[in-house]
Amino acid sequence: MLLFAAHKHWDHAGGNVAFAAELGITKVLGPSGEHVEGCTHTVSEGDRISVGNANFSVWEMPCHTRGHVAFYLPPLVDLAPSQPPAPAIPSTQLGVNQAGNFDGRVDLGAGLVGTVSASPREGGSGAHVPSPAMVVLGVETSGALFCGDVLFSQGCGRFFEGTAEQMLRNADRIASLPNSVLIFCGHEYTLTNARFSAWLEPDCEAVQRRLEEVETLRGHATPVPTVPTAVGRERETNPFLRAREAATASAVRRRALDSLGGGLPGELEGGVEDWDWEDPVVVMLAMRRMRDAW
Ligand SMILES: [Zn+2]
Repeated sequence: MLLFAAHKHWDHAGGNVAFAAELGITKVLGPSGEHVEGCTHTVSEGDRISVGNANFSVWEMPCHTRGHVAFYLPPLVDLAPSQPPAPAIPSTQLGVNQAGNFDGRVDLGAGLVGTVSASPREGGSGAHVPSPAMVVLGVETSGALFCGDVLFSQGCGRFFEGTAEQMLRNADRIASLPNSVLIFCGHEYTLTNARFSAWLEPDCEAVQRRLEEVETLRGHATPVPTVPTAVGRERETNPFLRAREAATASAVRRRALDSLGGGLPGELEGGVEDWDWEDPVVVMLAMRRMRDAW
């Protein structure tokens, strides 16, 4: 058994030692670019990690912290774009079953539907999932990205040790993945992020629709998780993956005129109207700073 740590922060790595001892884990993988508590093996860009028949790649994604990494599991079965998508179901049909487990089908966005099960299953794409404790979300067909605090559903991590330019590179890399890839991010911040995104892009129908879904899911007596999310959905609704889109850039500029009147001294020269709004780095930085103050 392995333990993956994506970055050094205490809320991600603080339990490594106790967790490894409890479960008899001898290999705790962490980034080479920073000190992670309990780390026994460091990993860097391009490293491959095999777990059973799953082969993960390590991606270095600096910005939230200097050494932050993500673990990428490519889809074992490619969902070709020509393959007809399963009929879409509203996410609001998701539920928590009587045993308290998340159960049902999940709308991954972009016309893709994944299956969710709290028990092991075989078949589907032919993959066998050995762990009874594992919540299976069709990872064997979808692919998965374990990205810590790089990206959240409809948000991203704060730029503690990096720049908007680095975040744009990270965002481009994630956005280039197949739509089906599930994103296992480090926090369930989706409701606040969905409200921010809806404020930021009031004219974006996908963002407004997603806010309604998220409010429903999180409004249950036992709130339904919105994580994992999927690349397809985030490409449609996460402003931090959309900094290159003209509609997002002009929406961010409009909000910045109201919210960043004092400019961003030390980061960008001049006032909001002087900034180069065709530069996606400017769009990325402006929305992160507005989100910081949200
Ligand atoms: Zn963090």
